[in-house]
Amino acid sequence: MGSADHLREIEADALGRLGAAGDLEALAILEAEVIGPGSPIMEARRGLKDVPQEDRKELGRAINEVKTSIDAAIAARRRHLAASAGEARLAAERLDITLPGRAPARGTHHLVRQVWDEVVDIFMALGYSVADGPEVETAHYNFDALNTPPTHPSRFESDTLYVDYGDDPEGVLLRTQTSPVQARYMEAHPPPVYIVSPGRTYRRDTTDATHTPVFHQMEGLAVDDHITFADLKGTLAYFANEFFGSGRQVRFQPHFFPFTEPSAEMHFSCFACDGSGCRTCGHSGWIELLGCGMVDPNVLATAGYDPAAVSGFAFGMGIDRLAMIRYGIPELRYFFDPDLRVLGQFR
Ligand SMILES: [Zn+2]
Repeated sequence: MGSADHLREIEADALGRLGAAGDLEALAILEAEVIGPGSPIMEARRGLKDVPQEDRKELGRAINEVKTSIDAAIAARRRHLAASAGEARLAAERLDITLPGRAPARGTHHLVRQVWDEVVDIFMALGYSVADGPEVETAHYNFDALNTPPTHPSRFESDTLYVDYGDDPEGVLLRTQTSPVQARYMEAHPPPVYIVSPGRTYRRDTTDATHTPVFHQMEGLAVDDHITFADLKGTLAYFANEFFGSGRQVRFQPHFFPFTEPSAEMHFSCFACDGSGCRTCGHSGWIELLGCGMVDPNVLATAGYDPAAVSGFAFGMGIDRLAMIRYGIPELRYFFDPDLRVLGQFR
């Protein structure tokens, strides 16, 4: 007890155990065991008083050396374990900057708006400009100025959404077509006129696959000297080729609209099957695209133009319909239902 050999054993035992401490918690427990009260080295120091005076100084110094050695080993082990713990935490919390990020969802124009812009661009390239008009319109501009007889069924409340506007004898309504912009524009501008007018229109329709109470139309109007039906055909065939791809054939079927005479419906050869017949064209090979005609002289006269001096053509098409045809969208109401599974496909 207290011999030099015994001290070396204490030191070797303490250093061996400290070297095996796996983490800071285990080290704290070991520290109490190797240098705390009751530990072998402290017991050795306590036993000094029983050592003969002449040996006490020598043995005391030896005990202190061992204690210092163990203290140093504890400190070294603690630094080592603390560093490892820090590295482990860093490793666990490390950001992997090579992982692909999650990009925020990017907003985009609605498909109807994309088609709207594209159609406008095609006509702008031909020298047309864009004209705008009110969505709340008078019966005068929506019907009378467009040569629609007072008894025409489109005026009925079953078809048209009227706005309660006091006793206005004219009738105020949500425009059923973009055509009133024609009448307004001609009143305010002398010929020549080359305009397109895209916008929202309203009808008292029950929602189904191809009807909604609000939809989008684009009206076009050209008035100038010597405008003929050939100009109408050339312009609209050019549009069909630009929008649906080259090689489209166009045909016109006689039709009736109050504000054009003669009037026609324009069909073009199906872009999906090239005319051989498929689902898109209802197996006819042709797709009905728009209504058109030569502006009725009465409409020109109402606007203050001289029907003997100028002539013109007008056309109207459904923007939603263009999008449905080109992208094979089966239901009109998808455009008014904010379902990103549908809309997200067109960005
Ligand atoms: Zn087809």
